[in-house]
Order: sequence, then C-alpha cells, then structure tokens
Amino acid sequence: MTPTAFFLGFLLVLAVLVWANARRRIAQSGLPEGHVTYQDADRRHKLARPLISRRYGLAGKPDYLVVTTEGVVPVEVKSHSYPNSGPYESDTAQLTAYCILVEDALGGTLTHGIIQCANRSSRIEYSPHRRERVLQIIEEMRRTLDSPTVHRSHTQRGRCRACGFRAVCEERIG
Ligand code: SF4
Repeated sequence: MTPTAFFLGFLLVLAVLVWANARRRIAQSGLPEGHVTYQDADRRHKLARPLISRRYGLAGKPDYLVVTTEGVVPVEVKSHSYPNSGPYESDTAQLTAYCILVEDALGGTLTHGIIQCANRSSRIEYSPHRRERVLQIIEEMRRTLDSPTVHRSHTQRGRCRACGFRAVCEERIG
C-alpha cells in the first residue's frame, strides 16, 4: 500500500469514527432525528428574544427545537429521572404550552413534543384535547393573578412545608 492510499484510508476510518460518535451522542441526548434549529439547554445558542404568542399571552424558550420529518418538535430537558407513573402532569403541561407557543409564533402544525428526563425520553402527543386543557389552565392562572385574593387550592401539608411563601401565608397547613 502506498503512503497516499494509507493516508486516505486513515482519513476514511477517522470520518466514520467521528460520524458514529456524533450519532451516539445524539442518541444519548434523547433528541429526535432531525435538524436542531435552536437550543437553549446549554445556553450556548440563546434566541435573541423569547418566542412570543400575543394571541395566547405566552412567551418562552424551549430547550431545543428540532426540525424532523413530522415537523418542528420542541424538546424540554428535565434533570429528574423518568417517573414510574409516567411524565409529571406539570412537565406535560409545560411542553404543551411550548407546542402552542411554537405553533403560533413560528407557524406550521406540530404533532408532538418530547420530555427528556435524566434516564429516558418520552413522546408527548400534541392532541386537540391536551391543547384545550392547557389553554384552560393558562386562562385560570391569568384570572387568579388578576384576583385580589387567592385561596389555598389543596390539603397537602408537605406542599406547604416546602413552600417559599409559608412564612407569610395565612392559609398554610401545619
Ligand atoms: S403555604 Fe400557602 S401559598 Fe404555600 S402551598 Fe401552602 S397554602 Fe399555598
């Protein structure tokens, strides 16, 4: 084998190793196959401004936006492990709010988003029912913020114990 052929062969092997390593890192990240158009997870490529939906009064930055064959997919990264009982309702609601925001701010149709927990990812369908439910929650939150008095909405002692407003809240339990 000539030195040139050896060198070209070496470059080819190196290219394959780099490609395989990149594929492995994408698989480990839990991101779907596609082109990452935006990422805020490592704070390296921050959007100049957050996405804004004036229609729904929403603003925010998902951790990733990936363009896939199914359209744009928001990905929200969580540091906790995947719960045995399935994704937390709050995480699902947050991701769905991002789907609404992306759909309105960037246009197009979204089919799903992804919650990436520490040990596995979960595909969350962006269904009309889920969308309506989250819009209702947003509306309820807006009404609550406008209301002069907000009463406790639960009976969980542990929640009050961990709450930052405990010292000043007259409705705390325990
Ligand atoms: S301390 Fe008050 S604000 Fe905090 S969780 Fe309990 S009731 Fe809610």
